[in-house]
Amino acid sequence: MTTSRVLAARFLRVTGVVQGVGFRPFVHRLAIRHDLAGWVRNVAGTVEVHVEGDNESLEAFEADLASEAPPISNIATLVAEVATAEGAEGFRILASADADGNRPVPPDVAICSKCEEELLNPRDRRFRHPFITCTDCGPRYTVIRSLPYDRERTSMAAFDMCPTCLAEYETPADRRHHAETVACLSCGPRVWLALDDRRLMSEGDVAIHDAAALLCIGRIVALRGVGGFHLACDATDESAVRELRHRKKREAKPFAVMVRTMDQARELATISPAEAALLRGPEHPVVLLARRDVTRLAASVSPGLDHVGVMLAYTPLHHLLLDIVRCPLVMTSGNRSDEPIAIGNDEALDKLRDIADVFLLHDREIISRVDDSVVRVVDDAPVLMRRARGYAPLAIPLPVNASRPLIAVGPHLKNTFTLVRDSSAFVSPHIGDLDGLESLAYYNTVLARFQQLFRITPEVAVRDLHPGYLTTRVAASLNVQRIIAVQHHHAHIAAVAAEHGVTQQVVGLAFDGTGFGDDGNVWGAETLVADLCGYHRMAQLRYVPLPGGDLAAREPWRVARGFLSLERGAAPAFALAFEGIGDEERSVADRQIERRLNAPLASSMGRLFDAAAAVLGVRRVSSYEGQAASELESLAGASRGQALPFPVIEQGGRLVLDPVPLLAALGEARQRGVDVGLLAARFHESVAHACANVARSVAGAAGLGVVALGGGSFQNARLLSGIRGRLEGFGLRVLVPRRLGPNDGAISYGQAAVAAAILSREG
Ligand code: ZN
Ligand code: ZN
Ligand code: FE
Repeated sequence: MTTSRVLAARFLRVTGVVQGVGFRPFVHRLAIRHDLAGWVRNVAGTVEVHVEGDNESLEAFEADLASEAPPISNIATLVAEVATAEGAEGFRILASADADGNRPVPPDVAICSKCEEELLNPRDRRFRHPFITCTDCGPRYTVIRSLPYDRERTSMAAFDMCPTCLAEYETPADRRHHAETVACLSCGPRVWLALDDRRLMSEGDVAIHDAAALLCIGRIVALRGVGGFHLACDATDESAVRELRHRKKREAKPFAVMVRTMDQARELATISPAEAALLRGPEHPVVLLARRDVTRLAASVSPGLDHVGVMLAYTPLHHLLLDIVRCPLVMTSGNRSDEPIAIGNDEALDKLRDIADVFLLHDREIISRVDDSVVRVVDDAPVLMRRARGYAPLAIPLPVNASRPLIAVGPHLKNTFTLVRDSSAFVSPHIGDLDGLESLAYYNTVLARFQQLFRITPEVAVRDLHPGYLTTRVAASLNVQRIIAVQHHHAHIAAVAAEHGVTQQVVGLAFDGTGFGDDGNVWGAETLVADLCGYHRMAQLRYVPLPGGDLAAREPWRVARGFLSLERGAAPAFALAFEGIGDEERSVADRQIERRLNAPLASSMGRLFDAAAAVLGVRRVSSYEGQAASELESLAGASRGQALPFPVIEQGGRLVLDPVPLLAALGEARQRGVDVGLLAARFHESVAHACANVARSVAGAAGLGVVALGGGSFQNARLLSGIRGRLEGFGLRVLVPRRLGPNDGAISYGQAAVAAAILSREG
């Protein structure tokens, strides 16, 4: 025996979010602390650790590995086995090995508190360095070109580390040990300010000061960020915000606002503990908050709404800028309306030159585009409105193993796609509406990147039932052996059930604007009995013709016209819906309804909200999707109200909810002068009451105890909370979308869950 102690060894495999999060340096520090020798390395998506020493230390090491893991890591599995001691000396971080297997790509992480402190500390060597990061924070997904995650395969490869940075990178005890994005003022990326004609205005810190000064006098700045460009202006300057709306051709859709500190956020909105936790979490999403009655915010930031989207600064550059301007900034995505957000300097200078006055640019290339995520808190728990930066591209598990690699191409609007290998679903970040060639090109770019990053070659494609969607053509163009079509609302319910690991039958309430039904009509207020493999439609709204087809989704008065055609006698009660609408337009709509020309039949919760807004005289024409519903929710505020009549009849074995009496009651009461906020509240209560009762009777008849809620209408907090509370009151278990939002961003994951289940049933 040459050693003074008994040598034992362990081999550990750790999976999950363990790369790009400072995991290897953490393992290194831990091994040194426990006096263990060996090595750690990344192999595909797994961290492998070999440690040797005495048994007691090995056990302590193993326990601490799980309990002290870095804040932004997330261990999925940790397997340890006994190994043979190799007589290793010291502890080393080995170069990444490459192999097949699931390889999680870490999402981008907001600047950590330590970096923020250094950023504003004049004695720190990274004082005012706009790209300060460490192993706990900074860009990840947006700078990673390929895996494994090492600097040479990121856009930071363009910057050679200076000796000081290199020393930090190589020093195990340093916070920046193996931080792939490490840089400083002398070796890192640079910022500069350019005019819209591309002329250089200033560089470095001066550029940031200049940009701030311009923001303070009402100018619009295009700002290159982590996942793309933002358009920024002073959120307290009404004319600047209006000018931005005008130039961006965005009439009323709310803008998000960015502030530097939680205190500044509290000046704009009331913030619950759950909301504060979200605001300052590693993802730093936009959080929808209740706007204070008296704030400095310009009215045009979120017109007609009682809430405002707020995010805290999440990059060092944001902090530097906001520290100078000292006012909240509008931070909206840097795109022309309906186009993807710009990521390249030239691209932005080209596309945003009619919108921005100046451009604050930098030279750290953005490899992957990603929008800001949007979340709201309902009943103290987060509900995602848009899953992108900070969340994507983390895998979401499927409850069924996919026997073949899949691609689910997603829906037409608010698109995401999902790639699946085994039981891991890689859901793309929010892509948006697939309306034009630009968005289709963007879709294909993200798809190619995902296939390359995750090394998935799909053999089966999953698409929507709609024959005309762009995604249906995408599916047909893929080189796959089989295509499976999934009904939209089935996908909504499957998504919610699957993320909760539920594979048995549930009652599903799928409420949204539109989805292609299996009878060829527009669906969107469906009560299903479904499992992952199939569904039965148990209840719906009474079908209403939508004169003008797609146009009806933008013009609530048309929906009211459709409902009126079902009960002509309700005309006086519906009068407010058509005020200001020309006779010619009305009669064209009526003819479309009579002749069933361009007047598809719909059972749609979104359209019911539109009709209610119209008969209350709140909104007859919308400028963005969901505007009428958002405004009704805001008007309702915290008012309490009794449910109005919303009868249910049975038709051919299916329950049919008839909204005409409800709409008529609303219109009549409003014309009698009843407060519009109270009526908006009564409308919400009526819908929640009727739908919860329908769900209860469907559950009772089918002998089921679980109800899943999905579809964009559940972005309405009052509707979600109202239905959920009632169902729980009936003793039912309610599944609410958590890891993906209620809206169509979850469709591709739902499609994937259905296809995996179908393949697995086939064996
Ligand atoms: Zn940091
Ligand atoms: Zn440096
Ligand atoms: Fe939908």
